[in-house]
Amino acid sequence: MNRISGIFPSGIVIAFLFVATHSVAASLEYVVSMPNPASHYFEVKVLLKDYKKDYVDFKMPVWTPGSYLIREYARNVEGFAAAKGNGIPVKHEKINKNAWRVWHGKSSVLEISYSVYAFDGSVRMSYLDENHAFIMANTLLMYTDALRFEPLTLRLNIPGRWKNISTSLNAGHEKNTFIAPDYDALVDSPVEIGNHEVIRFTAAGVEHEVAMYGEAFYDAEKIRGDLTKLIETATKIFDENPNEKYVFIVHNQSTGGGGLEHMSSTVLNVRRNIYQSNYNSFLTLAAHEYFHLWLVKRIKPAALEKLDYDRENYTDLLWFMEGVTSYYEEKIMLRSGYFDQQTFLDRLVKAMANIKNTPGAKVQSVAQASFDAWIKFYRQNENSHNDQVSYYSKGMILGALLDLAIIHNSEGRNSLDDVLRYLYENYHKKGKGITTENLRKACEHFGGMDFGQFFNDYIYGTRPLPNNEYLRLAGVGLLQLKNDLKPMSLGVSLTQQNGAAVISSVKKGSPAFEAGLSADDELIALDGFRINKNNFNSILDNYAPGSRVFLTISRDGLLLHKEVVVRRDDSVVYAFELMEEKSPMQQKVSEVWLGL
Ligand SMILES: [Zn+2]
Repeated sequence: MNRISGIFPSGIVIAFLFVATHSVAASLEYVVSMPNPASHYFEVKVLLKDYKKDYVDFKMPVWTPGSYLIREYARNVEGFAAAKGNGIPVKHEKINKNAWRVWHGKSSVLEISYSVYAFDGSVRMSYLDENHAFIMANTLLMYTDALRFEPLTLRLNIPGRWKNISTSLNAGHEKNTFIAPDYDALVDSPVEIGNHEVIRFTAAGVEHEVAMYGEAFYDAEKIRGDLTKLIETATKIFDENPNEKYVFIVHNQSTGGGGLEHMSSTVLNVRRNIYQSNYNSFLTLAAHEYFHLWLVKRIKPAALEKLDYDRENYTDLLWFMEGVTSYYEEKIMLRSGYFDQQTFLDRLVKAMANIKNTPGAKVQSVAQASFDAWIKFYRQNENSHNDQVSYYSKGMILGALLDLAIIHNSEGRNSLDDVLRYLYENYHKKGKGITTENLRKACEHFGGMDFGQFFNDYIYGTRPLPNNEYLRLAGVGLLQLKNDLKPMSLGVSLTQQNGAAVISSVKKGSPAFEAGLSADDELIALDGFRINKNNFNSILDNYAPGSRVFLTISRDGLLLHKEVVVRRDDSVVYAFELMEEKSPMQQKVSEVWLGL
Protein backbone atom coordinates (compact mmCIF):
# COMPACT_ATOMS: atom_id res chain seq x y z
CA MET A 1 0.00 0.00 0.00
CA ASN A 2 2.81 2.43 0.76
CA ARG A 3 4.24 2.01 -2.68
CA ILE A 4 0.89 2.70 -4.32
CA SER A 5 0.10 5.79 -2.26
CA GLY A 6 3.13 7.56 -3.72
CA ILE A 7 1.79 7.18 -7.25
CA PHE A 8 -1.89 8.10 -6.97
CA PRO A 9 -3.48 11.40 -5.86
CA SER A 10 -4.70 11.14 -2.28
CA GLY A 11 -8.43 10.84 -3.20
CA ILE A 12 -7.76 7.66 -5.17
CA VAL A 13 -5.78 6.18 -2.31
CA ILE A 14 -8.81 6.51 -0.03
CA ALA A 15 -11.06 4.83 -2.59
CA PHE A 16 -8.49 2.02 -2.98
CA LEU A 17 -8.25 1.48 0.77
CA PHE A 18 -12.03 1.30 0.97
CA VAL A 19 -12.11 -1.47 -1.62
CA ALA A 20 -9.13 -3.27 -0.10
CA THR A 21 -10.62 -3.50 3.39
CA HIS A 22 -13.79 -5.02 1.98
CA SER A 23 -12.18 -7.58 -0.30
CA VAL A 24 -11.19 -10.94 1.17
CA ALA A 25 -7.68 -12.21 0.47
CA ALA A 26 -7.45 -15.61 -1.14
CA SER A 27 -6.28 -18.37 1.21
CA LEU A 28 -4.78 -21.80 0.81
CA GLU A 29 -5.04 -24.82 3.08
CA TYR A 30 -3.51 -28.25 2.58
CA VAL A 31 -5.11 -31.27 4.25
CA VAL A 32 -2.95 -34.40 4.27
CA SER A 33 -4.49 -37.72 5.30
CA MET A 34 -3.04 -41.21 5.53
CA PRO A 35 -6.01 -43.58 5.97
CA ASN A 36 -4.06 -46.67 4.90
CA PRO A 37 -0.34 -46.08 5.59
CA ALA A 38 0.67 -49.60 4.49
CA SER A 39 -0.45 -48.73 0.95
CA HIS A 40 2.15 -45.91 0.81
CA TYR A 41 -0.58 -43.53 -0.41
CA PHE A 42 -1.10 -40.04 1.00
CA GLU A 43 -4.50 -38.44 0.32
CA VAL A 44 -4.23 -34.71 -0.32
CA LYS A 45 -6.90 -32.00 -0.39
CA VAL A 46 -6.08 -28.42 -1.30
CA LEU A 47 -8.68 -25.81 -0.32
CA LEU A 48 -8.46 -22.55 -2.21
CA LYS A 49 -10.80 -19.81 -1.00
CA ASP A 50 -11.77 -16.49 -2.56
CA TYR A 51 -9.49 -16.63 -5.56
CA LYS A 52 -10.97 -14.17 -8.04
CA LYS A 53 -9.77 -15.51 -11.37
CA ASP A 54 -11.49 -17.78 -13.88
CA TYR A 55 -8.89 -20.49 -13.66
CA VAL A 56 -5.91 -21.50 -11.58
CA ASP A 57 -2.92 -23.77 -12.32
CA PHE A 58 -1.80 -26.29 -9.70
CA LYS A 59 1.77 -27.47 -10.12
CA MET A 60 3.92 -30.20 -8.62
CA PRO A 61 7.62 -29.28 -8.38
CA VAL A 62 9.99 -31.37 -10.51
CA TRP A 63 13.00 -31.28 -8.14
CA THR A 64 14.04 -30.96 -4.51
CA PRO A 65 16.12 -27.90 -3.50
CA GLY A 66 19.57 -29.08 -2.43
CA SER A 67 19.44 -32.13 -4.70
CA TYR A 68 20.13 -31.04 -8.25
CA LEU A 69 18.30 -33.50 -10.47
CA ILE A 70 14.93 -33.37 -12.24
CA ARG A 71 12.88 -36.12 -10.58
CA GLU A 72 9.35 -35.40 -11.86
CA TYR A 73 7.26 -35.71 -8.69
CA ALA A 74 4.03 -35.43 -10.69
CA ARG A 75 4.66 -39.05 -11.72
CA ASN A 76 3.43 -40.17 -8.28
CA VAL A 77 0.12 -38.29 -8.50
CA GLU A 78 -3.14 -40.19 -9.11
CA GLY A 79 -6.83 -39.34 -9.30
CA PHE A 80 -6.64 -35.54 -9.63
CA ALA A 81 -10.14 -34.08 -9.10
CA ALA A 82 -11.56 -30.59 -8.61
CA ALA A 83 -14.88 -29.39 -7.18
CA LYS A 84 -16.61 -26.21 -6.05
CA GLY A 85 -17.52 -25.72 -2.41
CA ASN A 86 -20.87 -27.48 -2.87
CA GLY A 87 -19.15 -30.58 -4.25
CA ILE A 88 -20.00 -29.90 -7.91
CA PRO A 89 -17.09 -31.02 -10.10
CA VAL A 90 -15.43 -28.32 -12.17
CA LYS A 91 -13.56 -28.59 -15.45
CA HIS A 92 -9.84 -29.29 -15.29
CA GLU A 93 -7.15 -30.44 -17.68
CA LYS A 94 -3.51 -31.35 -17.52
CA ILE A 95 -1.57 -28.66 -19.43
CA ASN A 96 1.96 -30.04 -19.14
CA LYS A 97 3.93 -32.73 -17.28
CA ASN A 98 3.54 -31.14 -13.85
CA ALA A 99 0.56 -28.74 -14.08
CA TRP A 100 -3.22 -29.04 -13.91
CA ARG A 101 -5.46 -26.12 -14.97
CA VAL A 102 -8.75 -25.82 -13.08
CA TRP A 103 -11.65 -23.57 -14.20
CA HIS A 104 -13.59 -22.77 -11.09
CA GLY A 105 -15.43 -19.67 -12.32
CA LYS A 106 -14.48 -17.46 -9.35
CA SER A 107 -16.30 -19.79 -6.99
CA SER A 108 -15.56 -18.83 -3.37
CA VAL A 109 -14.29 -22.31 -2.46
CA LEU A 110 -12.33 -24.66 -4.69
CA GLU A 111 -11.31 -28.12 -3.51
CA ILE A 112 -8.59 -30.06 -5.30
CA SER A 113 -7.93 -33.66 -4.33
CA TYR A 114 -5.43 -36.32 -5.38
CA SER A 115 -3.41 -39.27 -4.07
CA VAL A 116 0.37 -39.49 -3.97
CA TYR A 117 2.31 -42.74 -3.89
CA ALA A 118 5.21 -42.29 -1.45
CA PHE A 119 7.67 -45.15 -1.19
CA ASP A 120 11.12 -43.62 -1.68
CA GLY A 121 13.23 -43.91 1.46
CA SER A 122 15.69 -41.11 0.54
CA VAL A 123 16.05 -37.73 2.26
CA ARG A 124 14.54 -36.02 -0.80
CA MET A 125 11.05 -37.46 -1.02
CA SER A 126 7.95 -38.10 1.05
CA TYR A 127 7.50 -41.58 2.47
CA LEU A 128 4.67 -43.48 4.12
CA ASP A 129 4.36 -46.93 5.65
CA GLU A 130 2.81 -48.62 8.69
CA ASN A 131 5.49 -47.22 10.98
CA HIS A 132 5.87 -43.59 10.04
CA ALA A 133 5.24 -40.77 7.60
CA PHE A 134 7.79 -38.33 6.26
CA ILE A 135 6.59 -35.29 4.35
CA MET A 136 8.68 -33.31 1.88
CA ALA A 137 6.06 -30.80 0.74
CA ASN A 138 7.52 -30.29 -2.75
CA THR A 139 6.94 -33.98 -3.51
CA LEU A 140 3.42 -34.06 -2.08
CA LEU A 141 1.73 -30.65 -2.17
CA MET A 142 1.02 -28.71 -5.35
CA TYR A 143 1.57 -24.97 -5.51
CA THR A 144 0.11 -22.09 -7.51
CA ASP A 145 2.19 -19.21 -8.86
CA ALA A 146 -0.48 -16.77 -7.71
CA LEU A 147 -0.35 -17.77 -4.04
CA ARG A 148 3.21 -19.07 -3.76
CA PHE A 149 4.29 -16.24 -1.47
CA GLU A 150 1.11 -16.11 0.66
CA PRO A 151 0.70 -17.66 4.13
CA LEU A 152 -0.84 -21.13 4.24
CA THR A 153 -2.06 -23.80 6.59
CA LEU A 154 -1.13 -27.49 6.73
CA ARG A 155 -3.62 -29.82 8.44
CA LEU A 156 -2.54 -33.38 9.19
CA ASN A 157 -4.98 -36.25 9.73
CA ILE A 158 -2.76 -38.87 11.26
CA PRO A 159 -3.45 -42.42 12.49
CA GLY A 160 -4.56 -42.38 16.15
CA ARG A 161 -1.73 -44.67 17.20
CA TRP A 162 0.92 -42.11 16.15
CA LYS A 163 1.81 -39.64 18.88
CA ASN A 164 4.62 -37.42 17.58
CA ILE A 165 4.97 -34.79 14.89
CA SER A 166 8.40 -33.19 14.48
CA THR A 167 8.89 -30.19 12.21
CA SER A 168 10.32 -26.69 12.30
CA LEU A 169 6.94 -25.32 11.15
CA ASN A 170 5.02 -23.23 13.67
CA ALA A 171 1.96 -24.92 15.16
CA GLY A 172 -1.47 -23.48 14.33
CA HIS A 173 -4.32 -22.96 16.79
CA GLU A 174 -5.93 -26.32 16.15
CA LYS A 175 -4.44 -29.70 16.92
CA ASN A 176 -2.13 -31.11 14.19
CA THR A 177 -2.26 -27.92 12.16
CA PHE A 178 0.78 -25.92 11.16
CA ILE A 179 1.26 -22.58 9.48
CA ALA A 180 3.89 -21.44 7.02
CA PRO A 181 4.58 -17.89 5.81
CA ASP A 182 4.64 -19.20 2.23
CA TYR A 183 5.03 -22.30 0.06
CA ASP A 184 8.84 -22.03 0.00
CA ALA A 185 8.95 -22.19 3.80
CA LEU A 186 6.68 -25.23 3.70
CA VAL A 187 9.01 -26.96 1.22
CA ASP A 188 11.93 -26.10 3.49
CA SER A 189 10.29 -27.67 6.57
CA PRO A 190 10.05 -31.46 6.34
CA VAL A 191 7.69 -33.20 8.75
CA GLU A 192 8.28 -36.50 10.56
CA ILE A 193 5.20 -38.26 11.97
CA GLY A 194 5.00 -41.45 14.03
CA ASN A 195 6.22 -42.80 17.35
CA HIS A 196 9.85 -41.73 17.03
CA GLU A 197 11.85 -40.78 20.10
CA VAL A 198 12.19 -37.03 20.57
CA ILE A 199 15.45 -35.78 22.11
CA ARG A 200 15.30 -32.12 23.17
CA PHE A 201 18.07 -29.75 24.21
CA THR A 202 19.11 -26.12 24.03
CA ALA A 203 22.36 -25.19 22.30
CA ALA A 204 23.69 -21.75 21.31
CA GLY A 205 20.49 -20.35 22.84
CA VAL A 206 18.36 -22.25 20.31
CA GLU A 207 15.80 -24.93 21.09
CA HIS A 208 16.80 -28.16 19.32
CA GLU A 209 14.90 -31.36 18.72
CA VAL A 210 16.17 -34.67 17.36
CA ALA A 211 13.43 -36.91 15.92
CA MET A 212 14.96 -40.41 16.05
CA TYR A 213 13.02 -42.73 13.76
CA GLY A 214 13.91 -46.42 13.45
CA GLU A 215 15.47 -48.98 15.76
CA ALA A 216 19.10 -48.28 16.61
CA PHE A 217 21.37 -48.48 19.65
CA TYR A 218 22.21 -44.86 20.31
CA ASP A 219 22.89 -43.03 23.52
CA ALA A 220 20.46 -40.09 23.67
CA GLU A 221 22.48 -38.35 26.39
CA LYS A 222 25.67 -38.58 24.37
CA ILE A 223 23.95 -37.32 21.22
CA ARG A 224 22.58 -34.37 23.17
CA GLY A 225 26.06 -33.47 24.44
CA ASP A 226 27.90 -34.02 21.17
CA LEU A 227 25.43 -32.12 18.99
CA THR A 228 25.52 -29.25 21.51
CA LYS A 229 29.29 -29.05 21.09
CA LEU A 230 29.08 -29.07 17.27
CA ILE A 231 26.29 -26.47 17.22
CA GLU A 232 28.15 -24.11 19.55
CA THR A 233 31.37 -24.45 17.55
CA ALA A 234 29.53 -23.71 14.28
CA THR A 235 27.62 -20.78 15.78
CA LYS A 236 30.89 -19.14 16.95
CA ILE A 237 31.97 -18.77 13.31
CA PHE A 238 29.02 -16.46 12.59
CA ASP A 239 28.55 -14.97 16.08
CA GLU A 240 24.85 -15.69 15.76
CA ASN A 241 22.42 -18.54 15.26
CA PRO A 242 19.41 -17.25 13.30
CA ASN A 243 16.90 -19.93 14.38
CA GLU A 244 14.51 -20.03 17.29
CA LYS A 245 14.05 -23.75 16.86
CA TYR A 246 15.95 -26.35 14.85
CA VAL A 247 14.97 -29.96 14.12
CA PHE A 248 17.18 -32.92 13.19
CA ILE A 249 15.08 -35.67 11.60
CA VAL A 250 17.13 -38.88 11.75
CA HIS A 251 16.04 -41.99 9.84
CA ASN A 252 17.92 -45.05 11.09
CA GLN A 253 17.96 -47.52 8.19
CA SER A 254 19.61 -50.78 7.20
CA THR A 255 20.97 -49.36 3.94
CA GLY A 256 21.54 -46.02 2.33
CA GLY A 257 22.64 -42.74 3.80
CA GLY A 258 22.86 -39.01 3.20
CA GLY A 259 21.54 -35.73 4.45
CA LEU A 260 19.55 -32.78 3.18
CA GLU A 261 19.75 -29.26 4.53
CA HIS A 262 16.88 -26.89 5.30
CA MET A 263 16.50 -23.41 6.83
CA SER A 264 15.69 -24.63 10.33
CA SER A 265 16.02 -28.38 10.08
CA THR A 266 17.82 -31.22 8.40
CA VAL A 267 17.10 -34.82 7.46
CA LEU A 268 19.83 -37.40 8.10
CA ASN A 269 19.50 -40.93 6.75
CA VAL A 270 22.05 -43.16 8.47
CA ARG A 271 22.69 -46.86 8.92
CA ARG A 272 21.29 -48.11 12.19
CA ASN A 273 24.68 -49.41 13.35
CA ILE A 274 26.47 -46.09 12.72
CA TYR A 275 26.49 -45.27 16.46
CA GLN A 276 28.67 -48.33 17.09
CA SER A 277 30.56 -48.71 13.82
CA ASN A 278 31.40 -45.13 12.88
CA TYR A 279 29.99 -42.61 15.32
CA ASN A 280 32.27 -39.83 14.02
CA SER A 281 30.73 -40.16 10.57
CA PHE A 282 27.32 -39.49 12.16
CA LEU A 283 28.72 -36.36 13.82
CA THR A 284 30.46 -35.29 10.59
CA LEU A 285 27.20 -35.60 8.64
CA ALA A 286 25.32 -33.66 11.34
CA ALA A 287 28.02 -30.92 11.31
CA HIS A 288 27.86 -30.70 7.51
CA GLU A 289 24.08 -30.35 7.30
CA TYR A 290 23.93 -27.98 10.26
CA PHE A 291 26.55 -25.68 8.72
CA HIS A 292 24.35 -25.42 5.64
CA LEU A 293 21.83 -23.39 7.65
CA TRP A 294 24.28 -20.52 7.11
CA LEU A 295 26.01 -21.58 3.88
CA VAL A 296 23.52 -22.27 1.05
CA LYS A 297 20.31 -21.71 3.03
CA ARG A 298 21.16 -18.10 3.94
CA ILE A 299 24.40 -17.23 2.13
CA LYS A 300 23.12 -18.45 -1.23
CA PRO A 301 23.98 -18.16 -4.89
CA ALA A 302 22.18 -15.21 -6.51
CA ALA A 303 20.89 -17.76 -9.05
CA LEU A 304 19.07 -19.66 -6.26
CA GLU A 305 17.54 -16.56 -4.62
CA LYS A 306 14.15 -17.26 -6.16
CA LEU A 307 13.76 -20.93 -6.95
CA ASP A 308 12.02 -22.18 -10.06
CA TYR A 309 10.32 -25.46 -9.13
CA ASP A 310 9.49 -26.31 -12.75
CA ARG A 311 12.98 -26.68 -14.20
CA GLU A 312 16.73 -26.75 -13.57
CA ASN A 313 18.20 -23.80 -11.61
CA TYR A 314 21.79 -23.17 -12.70
CA THR A 315 24.63 -21.87 -10.53
CA ASP A 316 28.41 -22.18 -10.83
CA LEU A 317 28.82 -21.90 -7.05
CA LEU A 318 27.99 -25.40 -5.78
CA TRP A 319 31.74 -25.96 -5.21
CA PHE A 320 31.56 -23.16 -2.62
CA MET A 321 28.17 -24.10 -1.17
CA GLU A 322 28.88 -27.85 -0.91
CA GLY A 323 32.67 -28.06 -1.03
CA VAL A 324 33.33 -25.33 1.51
CA THR A 325 30.58 -26.78 3.72
CA SER A 326 32.50 -30.07 3.51
CA TYR A 327 35.65 -28.19 4.54
CA TYR A 328 33.84 -26.62 7.51
CA GLU A 329 32.37 -29.96 8.58
CA GLU A 330 36.03 -31.00 9.02
CA LYS A 331 36.97 -27.76 10.79
CA ILE A 332 34.01 -28.05 13.16
CA MET A 333 34.99 -31.65 13.98
CA LEU A 334 38.57 -30.46 14.63
CA ARG A 335 37.58 -27.45 16.72
CA SER A 336 35.09 -29.52 18.74
CA GLY A 337 37.79 -32.08 19.52
CA TYR A 338 36.30 -35.06 17.63
CA PHE A 339 39.12 -35.00 15.07
CA ASP A 340 42.69 -34.52 16.15
CA GLN A 341 45.10 -32.62 13.94
CA GLN A 342 46.37 -35.90 12.39
CA THR A 343 42.88 -36.98 11.37
CA PHE A 344 42.01 -33.56 9.98
CA LEU A 345 45.17 -33.40 7.84
CA ASP A 346 44.92 -37.04 6.85
CA ARG A 347 41.40 -36.55 5.49
CA LEU A 348 42.46 -33.38 3.67
CA VAL A 349 45.46 -34.97 1.90
CA LYS A 350 43.29 -37.99 0.98
CA ALA A 351 40.90 -35.61 -0.79
CA MET A 352 43.92 -34.01 -2.52
CA ALA A 353 45.07 -37.43 -3.76
CA ASN A 354 41.54 -38.27 -4.87
CA ILE A 355 41.37 -35.18 -7.10
CA LYS A 356 44.91 -35.78 -8.38
CA ASN A 357 43.84 -39.32 -9.38
CA THR A 358 40.63 -38.24 -11.14
CA PRO A 359 41.16 -37.90 -14.93
CA GLY A 360 37.97 -35.79 -15.06
CA ALA A 361 39.70 -33.07 -13.01
CA LYS A 362 41.73 -32.26 -16.13
CA VAL A 363 38.55 -31.98 -18.20
CA GLN A 364 36.01 -30.18 -16.03
CA SER A 365 36.43 -27.16 -13.73
CA VAL A 366 34.55 -26.92 -10.43
CA ALA A 367 32.53 -24.02 -11.84
CA GLN A 368 31.43 -26.26 -14.73
CA ALA A 369 30.83 -29.19 -12.36
CA SER A 370 28.53 -26.94 -10.33
CA PHE A 371 26.62 -25.70 -13.35
CA ASP A 372 26.23 -29.16 -14.87
CA ALA A 373 25.37 -30.98 -11.61
CA TRP A 374 21.92 -31.62 -13.12
CA ILE A 375 23.24 -33.61 -16.06
CA LYS A 376 26.55 -34.96 -14.72
CA PHE A 377 27.14 -35.17 -10.95
CA TYR A 378 23.65 -36.52 -10.26
CA ARG A 379 23.80 -38.81 -13.30
CA GLN A 380 26.97 -40.81 -12.76
CA ASN A 381 27.88 -43.46 -15.31
CA GLU A 382 30.85 -45.68 -16.14
CA ASN A 383 32.74 -42.72 -17.67
CA SER A 384 32.09 -40.14 -14.90
CA HIS A 385 35.55 -40.61 -13.41
CA ASN A 386 37.02 -39.57 -16.78
CA ASP A 387 34.83 -36.58 -17.59
CA GLN A 388 33.99 -34.87 -14.31
CA VAL A 389 35.32 -33.70 -10.97
CA SER A 390 33.47 -33.77 -7.64
CA TYR A 391 32.62 -30.22 -6.56
CA TYR A 392 32.44 -31.62 -3.02
CA SER A 393 36.02 -32.96 -2.87
CA LYS A 394 37.69 -30.27 -4.94
CA GLY A 395 35.58 -27.57 -3.27
CA MET A 396 36.70 -28.84 0.13
CA ILE A 397 40.37 -28.51 -0.88
CA LEU A 398 39.74 -25.07 -2.38
CA GLY A 399 38.22 -24.05 0.96
CA ALA A 400 41.42 -25.11 2.72
CA LEU A 401 43.66 -23.33 0.17
CA LEU A 402 41.67 -20.08 0.34
CA ASP A 403 41.71 -20.27 4.14
CA LEU A 404 45.50 -20.80 4.20
CA ALA A 405 46.15 -17.99 1.73
CA ILE A 406 43.99 -15.51 3.67
CA ILE A 407 45.51 -16.46 7.04
CA HIS A 408 49.04 -16.22 5.65
CA ASN A 409 48.62 -12.99 3.77
CA SER A 410 46.80 -11.23 6.62
CA GLU A 411 49.54 -12.47 8.98
CA GLY A 412 47.01 -14.43 10.98
CA ARG A 413 44.51 -11.61 11.47
CA ASN A 414 41.83 -12.99 9.12
CA SER A 415 40.66 -16.32 7.80
CA LEU A 416 37.90 -17.81 5.63
CA ASP A 417 35.67 -17.51 8.74
CA ASP A 418 35.75 -13.73 8.25
CA VAL A 419 34.75 -14.09 4.59
CA LEU A 420 31.74 -16.22 5.56
CA ARG A 421 30.69 -13.86 8.35
CA TYR A 422 31.01 -10.93 5.92
CA LEU A 423 28.86 -12.65 3.27
CA TYR A 424 26.26 -13.51 5.90
CA GLU A 425 26.08 -9.92 7.16
CA ASN A 426 26.36 -8.11 3.83
CA TYR A 427 24.45 -10.35 1.46
CA HIS A 428 22.04 -12.60 3.36
CA LYS A 429 20.95 -9.90 5.80
CA LYS A 430 20.38 -7.50 2.93
CA GLY A 431 18.29 -10.07 1.07
CA LYS A 432 20.89 -10.65 -1.64
CA GLY A 433 22.48 -13.77 -3.08
CA ILE A 434 26.15 -13.92 -3.98
CA THR A 435 28.03 -14.31 -7.26
CA THR A 436 31.52 -15.73 -7.73
CA GLU A 437 32.67 -12.14 -8.19
CA ASN A 438 31.23 -11.13 -4.78
CA LEU A 439 32.98 -14.09 -3.19
CA ARG A 440 36.32 -13.33 -4.83
CA LYS A 441 36.16 -9.70 -3.70
CA ALA A 442 35.36 -10.74 -0.12
CA CYS A 443 38.38 -13.11 -0.16
CA GLU A 444 40.55 -10.31 -1.52
CA HIS A 445 39.30 -7.91 1.15
CA PHE A 446 40.24 -10.22 4.04
CA GLY A 447 43.34 -11.67 2.39
CA GLY A 448 44.66 -8.30 1.22
CA MET A 449 45.68 -9.93 -2.05
CA ASP A 450 44.55 -10.47 -5.63
CA PHE A 451 42.72 -13.79 -6.12
CA GLY A 452 41.99 -13.22 -9.84
CA GLN A 453 44.58 -15.72 -11.05
CA PHE A 454 43.59 -18.24 -8.34
CA PHE A 455 39.93 -18.15 -9.42
CA ASN A 456 40.86 -18.35 -13.13
CA ASP A 457 43.22 -21.28 -12.66
CA TYR A 458 41.50 -23.41 -10.03
CA ILE A 459 37.80 -22.51 -10.10
CA TYR A 460 37.12 -21.63 -13.73
CA GLY A 461 40.15 -23.62 -14.91
CA THR A 462 41.57 -27.10 -14.47
CA ARG A 463 45.17 -26.32 -13.49
CA PRO A 464 46.50 -28.82 -10.91
CA LEU A 465 45.92 -27.48 -7.39
CA PRO A 466 48.96 -25.96 -5.63
CA ASN A 467 48.45 -28.18 -2.58
CA ASN A 468 52.07 -28.44 -1.51
CA GLU A 469 52.76 -24.73 -1.84
CA TYR A 470 49.77 -23.76 0.31
CA LEU A 471 50.18 -26.46 2.99
CA ARG A 472 53.76 -25.26 3.48
CA LEU A 473 52.38 -21.90 4.59
CA ALA A 474 51.28 -23.70 7.77
CA GLY A 475 54.44 -25.77 8.07
CA VAL A 476 52.83 -28.91 6.67
CA GLY A 477 54.72 -30.93 4.06
CA LEU A 478 52.89 -33.01 1.45
CA LEU A 479 54.64 -36.32 0.80
CA GLN A 480 54.04 -38.56 -2.19
CA LEU A 481 54.47 -42.30 -1.66
CA LYS A 482 57.11 -43.90 -3.91
CA ASN A 483 55.67 -45.40 -7.10
CA ASP A 484 57.81 -48.58 -7.00
CA LEU A 485 55.80 -49.77 -4.00
CA LYS A 486 52.57 -49.76 -6.00
CA PRO A 487 50.99 -52.94 -7.44
CA MET A 488 50.66 -53.70 -11.16
CA SER A 489 47.55 -52.36 -12.80
CA LEU A 490 45.64 -52.20 -16.06
CA GLY A 491 43.50 -49.25 -14.93
CA VAL A 492 40.16 -51.04 -14.73
CA SER A 493 37.59 -51.40 -11.95
CA LEU A 494 35.93 -54.79 -11.75
CA THR A 495 32.63 -56.05 -10.43
CA GLN A 496 31.64 -59.63 -9.86
CA GLN A 497 28.58 -60.66 -11.91
CA ASN A 498 27.39 -64.28 -11.59
CA GLY A 499 30.92 -65.30 -10.69
CA ALA A 500 32.46 -63.48 -13.67
CA ALA A 501 34.83 -60.49 -13.49
CA VAL A 502 33.25 -57.66 -15.46
CA ILE A 503 34.84 -54.26 -16.14
CA SER A 504 32.76 -51.49 -14.56
CA SER A 505 35.00 -48.61 -15.67
CA VAL A 506 38.22 -47.93 -17.58
CA LYS A 507 40.49 -45.09 -16.47
CA LYS A 508 41.37 -42.66 -19.25
CA GLY A 509 45.03 -43.00 -20.30
CA SER A 510 45.49 -46.37 -18.55
CA PRO A 511 46.88 -49.55 -20.23
CA ALA A 512 43.34 -50.90 -20.58
CA PHE A 513 42.17 -47.63 -22.15
CA GLU A 514 45.05 -47.72 -24.65
CA ALA A 515 44.38 -51.37 -25.51
CA GLY A 516 40.71 -50.68 -26.23
CA LEU A 517 39.11 -52.49 -23.28
CA SER A 518 35.65 -51.28 -22.38
CA ALA A 519 33.14 -51.16 -19.57
CA ASP A 520 30.93 -54.31 -19.65
CA ASP A 521 33.76 -56.48 -21.03
CA GLU A 522 33.92 -59.77 -19.12
CA LEU A 523 37.51 -60.77 -18.30
CA ILE A 524 37.82 -64.51 -18.76
CA ALA A 525 41.53 -65.27 -18.77
CA LEU A 526 44.95 -63.61 -18.55
CA ASP A 527 47.66 -65.49 -20.47
CA GLY A 528 45.44 -68.55 -20.20
CA PHE A 529 44.85 -68.27 -16.44
CA ARG A 530 41.16 -68.16 -15.52
CA ILE A 531 40.35 -64.81 -13.85
CA ASN A 532 37.83 -63.76 -11.27
CA LYS A 533 37.54 -60.52 -9.32
CA ASN A 534 39.45 -61.96 -6.34
CA ASN A 535 42.51 -63.43 -8.07
CA PHE A 536 42.91 -60.80 -10.81
CA ASN A 537 45.27 -58.46 -8.91
CA SER A 538 47.44 -61.26 -7.52
CA ILE A 539 47.88 -62.80 -10.99
CA LEU A 540 48.74 -59.40 -12.45
CA ASP A 541 51.31 -58.80 -9.73
CA ASN A 542 53.45 -61.68 -11.06
CA TYR A 543 54.39 -59.55 -14.06
CA ALA A 544 57.09 -56.87 -14.34
CA PRO A 545 56.21 -53.35 -15.54
CA GLY A 546 56.25 -53.29 -19.36
CA SER A 547 55.25 -56.98 -19.79
CA ARG A 548 52.68 -57.79 -22.45
CA VAL A 549 49.76 -59.95 -21.37
CA PHE A 550 46.98 -61.53 -23.43
CA LEU A 551 43.48 -61.11 -22.18
CA THR A 552 40.61 -63.32 -23.24
CA ILE A 553 37.41 -61.38 -22.93
CA SER A 554 33.75 -61.79 -23.75
CA ARG A 555 32.02 -58.76 -25.25
CA ASP A 556 28.34 -58.90 -26.03
CA GLY A 557 28.48 -62.70 -26.04
CA LEU A 558 31.48 -63.00 -28.42
CA LEU A 559 35.03 -64.01 -27.47
CA LEU A 560 37.98 -61.80 -28.38
CA HIS A 561 41.60 -61.24 -27.38
CA LYS A 562 43.46 -58.10 -26.41
CA GLU A 563 47.11 -57.50 -25.78
CA VAL A 564 47.78 -55.11 -22.90
CA VAL A 565 51.02 -53.67 -21.50
CA VAL A 566 51.17 -54.01 -17.71
CA ARG A 567 52.16 -50.90 -15.75
CA ARG A 568 52.52 -50.03 -12.11
CA ASP A 569 49.45 -48.36 -10.64
CA ASP A 570 50.27 -44.68 -11.22
CA SER A 571 47.69 -43.26 -8.84
CA VAL A 572 49.11 -40.94 -6.24
CA VAL A 573 49.08 -41.61 -2.49
CA TYR A 574 49.78 -38.63 -0.23
CA ALA A 575 50.88 -38.42 3.36
CA PHE A 576 51.80 -35.31 5.31
CA GLU A 577 54.54 -34.33 7.71
CA LEU A 578 54.61 -31.53 10.24
CA MET A 579 57.80 -29.56 9.71
CA GLU A 580 59.96 -29.58 12.79
CA GLU A 581 61.41 -26.17 12.22
CA LYS A 582 58.74 -23.67 11.34
CA SER A 583 59.34 -20.02 10.59
CA PRO A 584 57.50 -17.61 12.93
CA MET A 585 54.98 -17.02 10.10
CA GLN A 586 54.39 -20.75 9.53
CA GLN A 587 53.91 -21.10 13.28
CA LYS A 588 51.37 -18.28 13.26
CA VAL A 589 49.44 -19.65 10.25
CA SER A 590 49.42 -23.12 11.77
CA GLU A 591 48.06 -21.80 15.07
CA VAL A 592 45.23 -19.88 13.41
CA TRP A 593 44.41 -22.64 10.91
CA LEU A 594 44.53 -25.67 13.19
CA GLY A 595 43.65 -23.83 16.38
CA LEU A 596 46.78 -24.98 18.17
ZN1 LIG B 1 25.85 -30.51 1.65
